Amino acid sequence: MDCIFCAIVNGDIPSKKVYEDKFCCAFLDINPQAPVHCLVIPKEHISSCNEINETNVSVVSHIFTTIPKIAKALNLTNGYRIISNVGEDACQSVKHLHFHILGGAKLTDKMG
Ligand code: AMP
Ligand code: ZN
Repeated sequence: MDCIFCAIVNGDIPSKKVYEDKFCCAFLDINPQAPVHCLVIPKEHISSCNEINETNVSVVSHIFTTIPKIAKALNLTNGYRIISNVGEDACQSVKHLHFHILGGAKLTDKMG
């Protein structure tokens, strides 16, 4: 399967990793939309939030218990935003589940 984020997990494509464990990793977005912009992904290929199910949801809950630690490591002490784009209307460009973590400044209150 031709997946850029699986290639990052495998080390075939370089990334600026800020966190990694057995189940997930986080790396800086190549095209940052905020002073701090990283992506948190499961190591397992899941295409989007639409493909979360009873079997793979444990990695998603793991990611959500890990995000506060990643945010702390990135010094996002004043808050941050978590976004996951799903499908065409949300402009999902990489079909491997990822959570954008945005912060480091006051963000716009418009989300769409
Ligand atoms: P989305 O549009 O929600 O699918 O988000 C995909 C994100 O992946 C975008 O913010 C891209 O800038 C980012 N991205 C694409 N390729 C890379 C890469 N090689 N390293 C880091 N971030 C990437
Ligand atoms: Zn993948």
